[in-house]
Amino acid sequence: MFYKYETHLHTSEVSKCACSTGAEMARAYKEAGFTGIFVTDHFVNGNCSVPRHVSWDLQMEMFVQGYENARREGEKIGLDVFFGWEFTHNPYGHDYLTYNLDKEFLLAHPGIDVMPIEKYSRLVRESGGLIIQAHPYRRAFYLLYEPDPKPDLVDGIEVNNSESSSPHNNNHLAWELARAHPNLIRTSGCDIHGLYNVGICGVAFRHRIENSQHFVESLKAGEGYLIIDGRITDREGNIIE
Ligand SMILES: [Zn+2]
Ligand SMILES: [Zn+2]
Repeated sequence: MFYKYETHLHTSEVSKCACSTGAEMARAYKEAGFTGIFVTDHFVNGNCSVPRHVSWDLQMEMFVQGYENARREGEKIGLDVFFGWEFTHNPYGHDYLTYNLDKEFLLAHPGIDVMPIEKYSRLVRESGGLIIQAHPYRRAFYLLYEPDPKPDLVDGIEVNNSESSSPHNNNHLAWELARAHPNLIRTSGCDIHGLYNVGICGVAFRHRIENSQHFVESLKAGEGYLIIDGRITDREGNIIE
């Protein structure tokens, strides 16, 4: 028996590029047999719909709305909903999934959106957060930069983003990067923006995840499995079921 979790999910309340609400996402993942989801909307330095001219506190209140709506729906239907975000390092657009920190952390750190990635990484990790480098080799029309992964500044690599064969994500290169840094955590995530390919990616555990801290500890203990193309695999990508 596996407990399945989506690690990379956007909501239309907060991510400009998403087209399904937090509640719709929660219902879809419940139907797909998942135990939980991590809502990781684009942070305010990325493709985010939160207006930038209002106070930091108000920006953060608006930023958590997709998560809050997903969590409320999750409580009704029996889906565990956790908070995270996808930090974009401008001007290059490299993306860092961030877990195990909360709204209070964000409220206490105005200006975190323009931090150099070295400083951001130090602050997040000193504060108990976990950073995963998202789709480190993605190439797309809107990315005007060369891939430039920072394995020394992260706790893990998203080795699989959306379909394993996705042409623009170059997942095979992400796998190579992870194998060159064997101590790093490996994750898989749909990077879901709408109700398409729900649940084909994620991570799985033999136990239920109680909270974000438990998620981090379980990943660090090597207890995570990967969900790739709808199949559960070990950390090398070998299919288990
Ligand atoms: Zn997006
Ligand atoms: Zn994303």
